[in-house]
Amino acid sequence: YSEEEKTEDYLFKIVLIGDSAVGKSNLLARYARNEFYPNSKSTIGVEFQTQKMDINGKEVKAQIWDTAGQERFRAVTSAYYRGAVGALLVYDISRRQTFDSIGRWLNELHRNLLSLCSHSCHISGVLDSLFIGTAHSDMNVVTILVGNKSDLKDAREVTTAEGKTLAEDEGLFFMETSALDSSNVTAAFQTVVKEIYDIIL
Ligand code: GDP
Ligand code: MG
Repeated sequence: YSEEEKTEDYLFKIVLIGDSAVGKSNLLARYARNEFYPNSKSTIGVEFQTQKMDINGKEVKAQIWDTAGQERFRAVTSAYYRGAVGALLVYDISRRQTFDSIGRWLNELHRNLLSLCSHSCHISGVLDSLFIGTAHSDMNVVTILVGNKSDLKDAREVTTAEGKTLAEDEGLFFMETSALDSSNVTAAFQTVVKEIYDIIL
């Protein structure tokens, strides 16, 4: 493709959600910078990180938002969700409690995106500000359920089948990842971005 064909730009806001310490910040660090923090504190979270991707010869930018640890206090604000078109909903396969929280996170995601809708009336109006140089119709938030820390085989408390079943029931994509050994990290982010791209075009 020529440079001219590449001028169209897409920017998708994607949010990372899930309980504290499931590995959200490390998934983003691994994906965006190929880094891992063995003893990270919740303060390492940046507000967002913009990552360029190439999909079918088009440059797509994913603006991936990470919390600064406010999920510990169940205080993720609506501003965090505003304008998001994709979400990674993360739990830790070695802590069942974080898997049990997924329903609550899904409710919060839907509640925030619905209230956004009722304030702005037309979701497409909201999305207009997110996509640079493209027309699009309405869409839902593309969500992937992510079972992180798949490297902790001996400490596993949630089976792969359980994750898969929940994802199927809720209509979500599903993947198990490890920010530690990198497995499926890029794939998880790419699944979301690719699906958003396919929906709007
Ligand atoms: P967050 O609170 O969800 O952002 O979680 P963090 O990214 O801060 O990670 C919490 C802790 O889990 C840190 O000590 C990380 O080193 C560790 N961690 C994150 N991802 C993985 C992983 O895939 N495997 C293992 N074994 N540990 C991880
Ligand atoms: Mg974090």
